[in-house]
Amino acid sequence: MWPNLIARRVFPSRASDSFGRMLGCLALFLLCACFAGVAHAGARDAVELQALTDEFVGRSGQILVEGKRPLDFEEALAALHAGEFRPLSEAVPKFGIGAAPVWFHIALRNTDDLPALRALIVGVSWIDRLDVHLRHESGRHVRIAAGDGDAALQHPEAGLGYVFESSFAPGLTDVLIRAETADPLPLPVRLLTPASLLHERTLRAYGYGALYGFLLALVAYNAMLYAGLRERSYLDYALYLGAFILTDLAYTGHGYALLWPAQAGLQRFVILVMMVVFCALGLRFARGFLRLEDSAPRLDRSVQRYAQAGLVAIGAAVVLRSQGMAALVAFLFVLSTSLIMVTLGLDAVRRGVAAGRYLLAAALAAMTGAAATALGVWRGLPYSLATLHVAELGVALEGILLALGLAHRVREHRRARESAEHLASIDSLTGLLNRRAFLERAAPLWSTALRNDRPLSLLMVDIDHFKSINDRFGHAVGDDVLAAFGKFLFGARREGDLVARWGGEEFILLLPETGLSQAHALGERLRVALGRAHITASYPHPLSASFGLAGRNPGDSLEVLIRAADAQLYRAKAAGRNRVCSPPRSGIGAEALLDGAEQ
Ligand code: GH3
Ligand code: MG
Ligand code: MG
Repeated sequence: MWPNLIARRVFPSRASDSFGRMLGCLALFLLCACFAGVAHAGARDAVELQALTDEFVGRSGQILVEGKRPLDFEEALAALHAGEFRPLSEAVPKFGIGAAPVWFHIALRNTDDLPALRALIVGVSWIDRLDVHLRHESGRHVRIAAGDGDAALQHPEAGLGYVFESSFAPGLTDVLIRAETADPLPLPVRLLTPASLLHERTLRAYGYGALYGFLLALVAYNAMLYAGLRERSYLDYALYLGAFILTDLAYTGHGYALLWPAQAGLQRFVILVMMVVFCALGLRFARGFLRLEDSAPRLDRSVQRYAQAGLVAIGAAVVLRSQGMAALVAFLFVLSTSLIMVTLGLDAVRRGVAAGRYLLAAALAAMTGAAATALGVWRGLPYSLATLHVAELGVALEGILLALGLAHRVREHRRARESAEHLASIDSLTGLLNRRAFLERAAPLWSTALRNDRPLSLLMVDIDHFKSINDRFGHAVGDDVLAAFGKFLFGARREGDLVARWGGEEFILLLPETGLSQAHALGERLRVALGRAHITASYPHPLSASFGLAGRNPGDSLEVLIRAADAQLYRAKAAGRNRVCSPPRSGIGAEALLDGAEQ
């Protein structure tokens, strides 16, 4: 499928498969949206109530667009009888933004002997004014005034739109609906049996419970991450998702039904304003997530200005109380933001920004969804339950992808930090711990020995006459010898010993659980082994070193121990080098002299 192909081109890695599949799902949704709705023939014939499915009934109905002068019911009925209504070819007729008021007619025949209960549903939540007339052939006329333009009118039902539960007497009923709004005007009309209505309500309740639960959990999670880590991306993302929830609550009618039922004035603008705020926050998040300010400052400023322009435009529409202008601004802003987000993602992928892939995939999911819903409601795509809800699916997918993206960034940070820490603790020439890392790691070993009153010794080692190696063979050979000597010490250490380069040609070994006599024996073994070894190919001469030893005494600190070992090393040097010196009171004899060690 083409989305998979595109995905593979943009995402050469493993991510492409899952991303492609996701895009595939979106495309499938759009396709379903295109083919939704089954044709009903003969628009002017009465439809048998009992034969209706849960589908949209547009094709069985007919419409009349009002001229300059508003029509009342009687005038509309007269126009109907005069054949001025035109049959519909779409399941859901759409009239765009700022359309003139529209009359919709469908004739329904109840073929039973008993009244039939049906819910007449106009599945949009934002129509300003919706007048429904049910006129039975007996002359009985039921009239219901609904709409969100005035708090006194019947409200839309959260998640379903306008629901009119009615009883249809046996025989013919003409249904006439007049719709008027400054927002985009689709007319998705359905007739549901009580069982279907219950089913739909349950489905919506679970569906929205899951969606809002998921999104709210993501908001809370990101807000907490921000509180803990103080990284702006988390806050931006929490705000962005929060804005989506509000937008969705507003546009599905949950807001007006549950949160601001008395504020028709707020209801008129809240969807449109939130659409723009949601997009602006999305752009703010994308800028931070891609670190656009550092990597592409001019692009960053342009995106920022664009978002500000959108906010100013919608603000102006609200101040001017122009709902039509607000609707136009909001819908154009959603569509252009979709394009910008995808472009930003593509640009970041091109520049090799790792986060770019996540943003691109997420933006494609969310913005394809948002754009499809906007077009489905406005123009360009057929209106269907799929196009109506695909934006929600897109944002849920986006939430998952961006959470993965943020986690990926945390992983990158951790890797960078670990590698920096590693580099900071290792001596690059010998690969041994450096002095700082030695002191850090020696501290817990020291406290353990202190707490448990265990023996612990320290061995300082210094290569003899090292300077002359440098002088005679060059600094590079000196380096080789140092590296080889480090390897030699490291290879000779026992489990639990700590070996480090103390500086220059001086090394240090911390020997836990080791008394002075044992440590002395170890030093001696090392000294002898060194005399026998050919330490490295570039220096095929004997090498010797001097060893200074100290053992832990009660009341000593690690620094005292180090100084004591250093003093013994000094003694070893002074006594002629190539020997191990221990403090006199150790009882092993202050020093072990060996002959002929000097080079
Ligand atoms: P002694 O037997 O008294 O220890 O004499 P020595 O020559 O070994 O000691 P001294 O302290 O006089 O000289 C140490 C030399 O080690 C001086 C310095 O240039 C050299 N050195 C220190 N670090 C490095 C290094 O990383 N690479 C090389 N090639 N030489 C180093
Ligand atoms: Mg030396
Ligand atoms: Mg030295």
